[in-house]
Amino acid sequence: MDSASRSQIEAWLRYFDDLGLSPFYLDRAAAELPALAPSPQAPRTARHAAAAPLIPPPRAQEAVLPVVPSLFDAAPRVEGDSLARIREDIGDCKRCRLCEARNTIVFGDGSERAQLVFVGEGPGHDEDVQGLPFVGRAGKLLTQMIEAMGLRREDVYICNIVKCRPPGNRQPERDEVATCSPFLDRQLAAIHPRVIVCLGNVAAQTLLGTNKSISQFRGQWFDFRGSKLLATYHPAFLLRTPSAKSEVWTDLKKVMHELGMKPPKPRPRSA
Ligand code: SF4
Repeated sequence: MDSASRSQIEAWLRYFDDLGLSPFYLDRAAAELPALAPSPQAPRTARHAAAAPLIPPPRAQEAVLPVVPSLFDAAPRVEGDSLARIREDIGDCKRCRLCEARNTIVFGDGSERAQLVFVGEGPGHDEDVQGLPFVGRAGKLLTQMIEAMGLRREDVYICNIVKCRPPGNRQPERDEVATCSPFLDRQLAAIHPRVIVCLGNVAAQTLLGTNKSISQFRGQWFDFRGSKLLATYHPAFLLRTPSAKSEVWTDLKKVMHELGMKPPKPRPRSA
């Protein structure tokens, strides 16, 4: 099969996966979301009190949240970690085959004090060229979504499951995710946001340790190491399926409510 046909088929498979129509190529029976159990919220660090001014201080958290194990549960904690140190540790990484075709390592972008982190799948062409996450068409849509919430892009943190572009924009392979995800784990631990939003199947399945399609748990809250985690559709999916924008906006309003933010007032229509 030539690479163009392969890319086309992969794009369609991802499209159907986003729709939840993917059992024909994934063994869904192998992984079920585990039973829910109560989890205490982890104490928050003092620096969060001085974080992004557009987000008010934490409200009382729900007493009981679902807890799910994932790839990340086995990762060791690094005391006194910082984004600069993590980037330094990545170096000119050649730990997985994704290094072979990349131009740039796309580490992440935004505030180390962010209370809201968006996690996507991996860099695309524009991101690979610019070295920044979510700067292509899907990235512009994500920026619009962030601004619709009343935030600026620099108020949040944006990163991906893998830091190097998978060739032909294919999904990262399981071993590539396993190799790269400790860096994401350290990023999330260093920032320790109040809310993590997973964008799309790969991010959600990786952090939640499930093969279930995102359509089965989109918009639900999970506990992730003391942060609240919600999965919603990837902006690239919204470019293909604009009708799903209302579901994503519903999810983002839940995030705003969790962060104690008021929904922005609708703009008056011009005459
Ligand atoms: S994807 Fe991650 S682990 Fe693989 S080469 Fe890039 S930075 Fe290293």
